[in-house]
Amino acid sequence: MTIGLELHNWAKDLWPICRSITGNGVRQTFDYLKKIIPINIIEVPCGTQVFDWVIPDEWNIREAWIKDAQGNKIIDFAKNNLHVISYSEAIDKRISLAELKNHIYTLPDQPNAVPYITSYYKRRWGFCMTHDQLKSLTEQDYHVCIDSNFNSAGSLTYADLIIPGKVVQEVLISTYICHPSMANDELSGPVVAAAVARELLRTKNYYTYRFVFIPETIGSVVYLSKHLEQMKKNTVAGFVLSCIGDNKNYSILSSPYANTLTDKVAEHVAKNISNNNFKKFSFLERGSDERQYCAPGVDLPVVGLCRTKYMDEDFPEYHTSLDDLENVVTPEGLAGGYKFTMDCVNLLEKNFKYKLSVLCEPQLGKRGLYPAISTKSSINVVYNMMNFVAYCNGKNDLVDICEIIGIYYRDALEYIEDFEKNKLIHTE
Ligand code: ZN
Repeated sequence: MTIGLELHNWAKDLWPICRSITGNGVRQTFDYLKKIIPINIIEVPCGTQVFDWVIPDEWNIREAWIKDAQGNKIIDFAKNNLHVISYSEAIDKRISLAELKNHIYTLPDQPNAVPYITSYYKRRWGFCMTHDQLKSLTEQDYHVCIDSNFNSAGSLTYADLIIPGKVVQEVLISTYICHPSMANDELSGPVVAAAVARELLRTKNYYTYRFVFIPETIGSVVYLSKHLEQMKKNTVAGFVLSCIGDNKNYSILSSPYANTLTDKVAEHVAKNISNNNFKKFSFLERGSDERQYCAPGVDLPVVGLCRTKYMDEDFPEYHTSLDDLENVVTPEGLAGGYKFTMDCVNLLEKNFKYKLSVLCEPQLGKRGLYPAISTKSSINVVYNMMNFVAYCNGKNDLVDICEIIGIYYRDALEYIEDFEKNKLIHTE
């Protein structure tokens, strides 16, 4: 099975679960991910103060529907969990159409889409439906029922996984698990992160890897409140994965000054895997957990990786029922998101400052480093090899050299191995 198909199947399995920022949907999601990678699952009590925030009560929902006067269910949460505002309070009441309309949310510009709406910090109840359906509702009494509850003795659930490397310096990969049934803005992140973690568990790594699966915003605030000191000391690069499973664009959400090692690595990779056709967004267009990781005083070198970013005009399905596993997120899109992330990770693993061990040009022929047959393309390889060593002055790292000589780092990896074997270059 291809990696894209495998990730798509994971996303299909996770699709029906009703996730929110707290509750059993998050736990069910982690129970599934735990079968793929050995995550640690942590519960933090509701009411805990975390920096300027307080963890809200845990919310769970069992069923929700609207019945017409004849008793037909015209909306059923069991069919699509976007139909209920996340964090809706309980209700069981017969009401008029006029009153019902005060609690219905639609998208007039996308009349066939059900919007995704949340109300985490203000108590209310509401239903979401297509605008077409709203227009079809007739004057009669409706029976509305939301069987949900808030538990102040509950907790917020998150998970992490530390994969130790040769050094304590670490790379952060963070994603969120708080959206109900949506594909790109939700499931693409956790499935790509899980696959990357699974791969790094199989290899010997230079860096330590910290994978974080959290509810967006409150989760990263909680996580930082527990791990800030260590993360500030050790983090060399960090990525927030979001909307990384469609097959349209490759996008980067830069760090505040777009000047970190992570920015440099992500741009080199995005440029090369997209044929120089990627989108680079400023930190002013942030929207996910980089808001916390890059906050003043936190200052981690974190960049967002996306295929087609949330709020991008190419992603009209964002935060609606149209963000699905058929038309938006595809196996090819997920495979691209996986490659994007793995290429960044693999580049970091090799991104040393290389220094030539001889003075003047090395003689490649006597070491058997010339390609056996001289063709146009093998001549290019030799040019690239000689260009590479021409910049191995101990000041340039792998990305610097590849950017100067105009090649993708993956193409340099084979000369680096040969050069190192022949003791022509070294790292300091
Ligand atoms: Zn979202």
